[in-house]
Amino acid sequence: MSMTPTRNKRCRSDDAELRALLLGWWNDHGRHDIPWKRTFSGERPAPDQPLDPYPIWIAEVMLQQTQLAVVLPYWHRWMAVFPTVEALAVASLEQVRLLWQGLGYYSRARRLHQAAQILVGRPWPRTLEGWMALPGIGRTTAGSICSSAFNLPAPILDGNLKRVLARLTAHPHPPARDDALLWSWSEALLDAMRPRDINQALMDLGATLCTPRSPSCERCPWRLHCAAYASGDPCRWPVTDAPKPLPFQVIGVGVVLNAVGEVLIDQRLEEGLLGGMWEFPGGKQEDGETIETCIARELKEELGIAVTVGAELITVDHAYSHKKLRFVVHLCNWVAGEPQPLASQQVRWVLPDDLGNYAFPAANAKIIAALLARS
Ligand code: SF4
Repeated sequence: MSMTPTRNKRCRSDDAELRALLLGWWNDHGRHDIPWKRTFSGERPAPDQPLDPYPIWIAEVMLQQTQLAVVLPYWHRWMAVFPTVEALAVASLEQVRLLWQGLGYYSRARRLHQAAQILVGRPWPRTLEGWMALPGIGRTTAGSICSSAFNLPAPILDGNLKRVLARLTAHPHPPARDDALLWSWSEALLDAMRPRDINQALMDLGATLCTPRSPSCERCPWRLHCAAYASGDPCRWPVTDAPKPLPFQVIGVGVVLNAVGEVLIDQRLEEGLLGGMWEFPGGKQEDGETIETCIARELKEELGIAVTVGAELITVDHAYSHKKLRFVVHLCNWVAGEPQPLASQQVRWVLPDDLGNYAFPAANAKIIAALLARS
């Protein structure tokens, strides 16, 4: 990490030693069984051996905000249904969303689909800029794809690596405030001959040893170089800003049934949180409003229908990264008005048993289970 002035200034020989220690540890203890990091015949690739970028790209986008153990079953299912970029490009967005259902951050699925349509019939990009020109790909995802697939010397800087670097140097500020500095450290650590391996080793160190709450410093190859370890309390890093309390909102939700037992669902607009997902209609409870009044008002405003609000079906608490929501869900009977998508893309009457054909956000899975348990 010699490239940038810092309180913990290091020299190039430090970087070389850190690389050697890390690669030595990784050889014996790294995660070498990640399926998209192996050749078709299941071997570790030689430095001059490219890997198929398609499975790596899919995995790297899934891994944004999500851990490897969660991603693996999704990735296997995805590769079975969409084994090539061509298969992904011709799929419907609805199919893509259904396979993504449960992974969260749903705009990632839409952008993968858009990017596949751009990529079909073209050679795979082989530069950071080429990958970053595609929808949904930032610098660290592009760096990971370039180094993993083509062994190109492109740095990465995901959340795990920010934590490792902040601890290694006992960095006195939250990493988000010093992005450029941390990128320069990651770049300085790159091994010109083995960028694929060093990036994977950095990710493995962050994921398996230098974990957020209980780092395994006794087994860490960088222990004797690590300022946080030397302090005796490595969990003091990375330094964070005081967390802001998350806003809390109550959402009234109507599960509206018609005379033949169908239930009304609507598809969210493409842009914004959970864009394109299906949901049961509803909205924020206003001050002084009962939940029944809230649901009746929201259904009138969003769908142009009148309902009678009946018994509570379920209450579901769900935390997003930026807010906490409580969904209070009531059964409703449709009284009047043809449902219209006044605040959504489309509305549909669906038999409860067919709800599995639509992609819903995680919070709605409990509502569906409660509805099915009732019938
Ligand atoms: S010694 Fe501990 S805190 Fe430092 S990099 Fe290794 S695991 Fe992380």
